Amino acid sequence: MANGMNILTSALAATGVAGLAVGGFAYAALWPGSQIFGSTIRGGSDPSEIALTFDDGPNDACTGALLEVLAKHDVRATFFMVGQYARQSPALARRVHEAGHLVGNHTVTHPLLARASPRRVREELAGCNAILEDTLGESVRYFRPPFGGRRPDVLRTARELGLVPVTWNVTGHDWAQKSAEEVYGIVKAGIARNRRRGRGSNVLLHDGGHLTMGADRSRTLRAVEMLLAQDAAGRRFVTVDRWDSV
Ligand SMILES: [Zn+2]
Repeated sequence: MANGMNILTSALAATGVAGLAVGGFAYAALWPGSQIFGSTIRGGSDPSEIALTFDDGPNDACTGALLEVLAKHDVRATFFMVGQYARQSPALARRVHEAGHLVGNHTVTHPLLARASPRRVREELAGCNAILEDTLGESVRYFRPPFGGRRPDVLRTARELGLVPVTWNVTGHDWAQKSAEEVYGIVKAGIARNRRRGRGSNVLLHDGGHLTMGADRSRTLRAVEMLLAQDAAGRRFVTVDRWDSV
């Protein structure tokens, strides 16, 4: 990932605007730090702030246990839910909301929006909004594109639907078959890197799996337990709305 970023950054610096026309689309559409297609929330400017974010739930196999871990440490997190799972497990989605966590839109079926038709994009975003509003009793404001994939009309449609796009600046790589210790190490290093650079951390993790309800996220759960067991001095857990200055 880091190498990829360096290559992309160098390529953009070397080729300038001409490069954007040729090779820039993939960068702008898929790289989480890209702001080319409109503003998104990535992270804050206070290095003590950390937002834990969990995508692809609610998940019957993980989300309940995760809520218990977060409650034990009195930490509020952000959950980007897949609409079809919220429809499948509405009580669990409500538990997340009622525990004070921030719930956001992660589409109905988790497609790669950069390759979807404009009509499909609208259906996915509006459909997830409707499911979450029906389930939680209030509308949602934040949206994370599946796989980080964006395109100008995706962001425009999101804004038309009252959604603020959110990316991330630390990824736990917990969708790969990493051990809990590895995920913990990667997240810890990412947070430390952001602190050195004077910025807050927006940490991408997964309580669910986009392919099926019931994904095994026990390693993510354990990694979060390890992270929260660390000395809390000098850090503060926030939800991503904290960085919404738009
Ligand atoms: Zn996802």
